[in-house]
Parts: sequence; C-alpha cells; structure tokens
Amino acid sequence: MPVSPLRSRTQVGIVGAGPAGLMLSHLLARVGIDSVAIDLRSRREIEETHRAGILEQDSVDLLVDTGVSDRVHRDGYRHDGIELAFGGGGHRIDFRGLVGASTQLYPQTDVFIDLADSRERDGGDVRFGVTDVSVDGLTTTPVMRFTDATGAPHEVRADFLVGADGSRSVCRRMVPEASRRQYFREYPFAWFGILTEAPPSAPELIYNHSPRGFALISQRTETLQRMYFQCEPEEDAGTWADDRIWEELQSRVGANGYVLKEGPITSRTVLPFRSFVQEPMHHGRLVLAGDAAHTVPPTGAKGLNLALADVRVLAEELERAVAGGDTEPLASYSTRALGRVWKAQHFSYWMTTMLHTLPDATPFDVRRQEGELASVTGSTAGSTYLAEAYTGWPGSP
Ligand SMILES: Cc1cc2nc3c(=O)[nH]c(=O)nc-3n(C[C@H](O)[C@H](O)[C@H](O)COP(=O)(O)OP(=O)(O)OC[C@H]3O[C@@H](n4cnc5c(N)ncnc54)[C@H](O)[C@@H]3O)c2cc1C
Repeated sequence: MPVSPLRSRTQVGIVGAGPAGLMLSHLLARVGIDSVAIDLRSRREIEETHRAGILEQDSVDLLVDTGVSDRVHRDGYRHDGIELAFGGGGHRIDFRGLVGASTQLYPQTDVFIDLADSRERDGGDVRFGVTDVSVDGLTTTPVMRFTDATGAPHEVRADFLVGADGSRSVCRRMVPEASRRQYFREYPFAWFGILTEAPPSAPELIYNHSPRGFALISQRTETLQRMYFQCEPEEDAGTWADDRIWEELQSRVGANGYVLKEGPITSRTVLPFRSFVQEPMHHGRLVLAGDAAHTVPPTGAKGLNLALADVRVLAEELERAVAGGDTEPLASYSTRALGRVWKAQHFSYWMTTMLHTLPDATPFDVRRQEGELASVTGSTAGSTYLAEAYTGWPGSP
C-alpha cells in the first residue's frame, strides 16, 4: 500500500542545495523567511566534487559580511592578477593596479562546506540525499515532492519555488516552451582537468595560448594544484597515463617559457564547454538561479560567482514578493540578474575564443588571435576591460 506523504508548508521551496540554493536559504533566513532546500546528492558527495576555485571580490564579501565564512580570507589566497602567456612569453594583467580589485583563490568545495555548516548551525532545513523529486503547481500553489534519505515521502507546499538545481535542471524544464527562450552555444573543444599533489608552479593563474592548444595552470593549496588543457570533447580521460598528461602540459606551457612542477595525478576529468541562458528566469511562482538558468564556459571563472550574484538579488526580490504576496518582484529579479548574466556570457565567450585553438583555424585565424592577445596586453584600455570583468565589475550594483 502506498505510504501517504508527510505534508508541510514553507515560504520558499528550494530545489538544489549547491552554492546557489544554500546561499539563498541563508540569506532568506537572515530576513526571517523560512525555506526548505533539497538535494539529490549526499553532503559528502557534494563536498568531494572539485569545481570552481576563483571568487570575485563581491562573492568573498557576501560570504564574509553575511557570516557564512571567516576562513575565506585566512585559508584562501588573494590573487592580484593573472598571466596571459602567448608568443613565447608571459604578460601580467595587474588587477589591483588597473581596477583596484582582486580575486580570491578559494575552492568551491570549501564554499560549500562553509555554507552547509552555517545552515546547520542556524537550524536551516536542508535535506541531502533525497530521491523522486518533482515540482508542481508553478502558477497556482507550488508543491515540492520528494522521498527523504530514510525513505519517507514528503509533500511541501510553498509560496514560491526556486530551481537552483544546476545545469541539468528539472525545474527549468517545467517552464512551458511558449513561456521561455533558450540561447545555446556549443564549442568544438573541452578541458582535460587534473588535480595533482605538487607545489604551485606559479603564484597566479597562467592562461596559456600555444600552437598545441590552450592550457590553464591554476592552484588550490601549497600541496594540491589544478591544471587543465584543451582537448577533444569526446576525449577519454581514463586512457591517459600520467607521463602523457605531463608531456602535453609541459609542451604547451614550455612554448611560453614555463616549466611545471610535477606530482602524482589524483583526479582527471573531461569538462565539456557550453554557453546557455534561459530567459526569463521566472515563470509563475517559480524562479531559476545559478547554473539552472545559465551556464558559461569556465575560462572566465564566472559560474560560481554568477550563482552567488543571482541569489543576492533574488533574496531581496523574494523578500518583497513574500511581503506583498505577488509575483512582480520575480520579474524584477529576472531583469536585474540577466544584466549581469549576459555581461558574464560575453566575457566568458571572449576569453574562450581568444585563448583556445579552433580545430579548423587557418594561419590567418592564428595570427589574428595573436594580434588580439597583443592588443589586450599591450594596451591599458584592453587590460582594464579584462581586469574589470574578471574581478566581477567591482563597484557595479
Ligand atoms: C570543473 C569545473 C570547473 C569550474 N570552474 C569554475 C571557476 O573557476 N569559477 C567559477 O565561478 N565557476 C566555475 N565552475 C562552475 C561552477 O562550479 C558552477 O557554476 C556552480 O557550481 C553553480 O552553482 P549552482 O548552485 O547553481 O549549481 P550546482 O553547484 O550544480 O548545484 C546544484 C545542486 O542541485 C542538485 N540537483 C540537481 N538536480 C536536482 C533535483 N532534481 N532535485 C534536487 N537536487 C538536484 C545537485 O546535486 C547539485 O548539488 C566550474 C564548473 C566545473 C564543472
């Protein structure tokens, strides 16, 4: 006999307890709005998934000023610039000097731990490891159904629902075709990403353009490093021996005079590239936030930052919506968030196409690309645009 679901109510139901979902739940709690957040994955599984590493200044401020993290400064590393390497050498983009801002190297795994700890400390209602998730009643009375980790079915009625369920969002698909527009671009390459137990090879990120393709040299801690190199989208990471990976990376950065410090490779993955936006970011009483609404290629380090920027605006607009009981603030959220989303889409696309080697590139394309890189690094105006966008348009609302 089917078991009747446990019925409850909340003001905001949140599908997805990644950075967007948890930060939103935290911000709502600060203004007295209760929420229930659910996630298909266990807390440990999310904690162990390595993803982003670069936080914009506004993301750092959001974590610190709202009491989520006091260790982002202590355990993270301030980066005042990046290196663009091409044509045989490196060219530093000095963020501090150009726009007076920095970024912070602080892994997404730590952002998630800080958020999950903070929700737990404050008694937030977050259920990890749920199954059978479905949502309903988006234009009337929203309801979120799921089975919790103990096997008990639940039905949570909410005033508003938030789809913060990542790039394969189920909530996004609930919006009828006639009520949404989707913008999509695929790229003819992917990133082969590794984690290696080695000391840092450089103090800041190196964005390396070379005849063999792009490579990104990034860091995590004093003993763990993150590196990527451009590969075919269908590349099988499992077939690459460590020696072959190091040879590929060394030859790409070696073209610009760098030598990497090697160590055991503890993780290898192939990361596909996509640009995607769904507009508007609301439908009825549903709103979308973070990767559920948009995806960017990782070259501009914008995905996690956009997710946090979305929910900063969303929390304000949901506060108005809860107070007034209407959906107008959800439309306002969509308009405000999309302004930043499209700037980040452009920046991520620009960095990607400027730095990667296109499979069908002609000699003209290659020389033009080098001209573009020289224009950016050789001009204060060009470098300033890069610095401003990379650090997250400091000072903009
Ligand atoms: C390898 C890699 C490197 C990256 N590097 C960077 C970087 O340097 N800088 C940067 O800013 N961004 C980077 N990103 C992007 C960044 O990780 C994402 O943009 C960020 O995680 C978005 O947060 P989110 O909360 O919107 O989505 P997610 O982190 O994907 O969280 C969504 C959550 O929803 C859950 N979920 C999914 N479906 C359901 C469902 N039906 N029901 C319940 N729960 C569900 C998932 O389990 C997940 O925990 C990178 C991404 C990858 C993969």
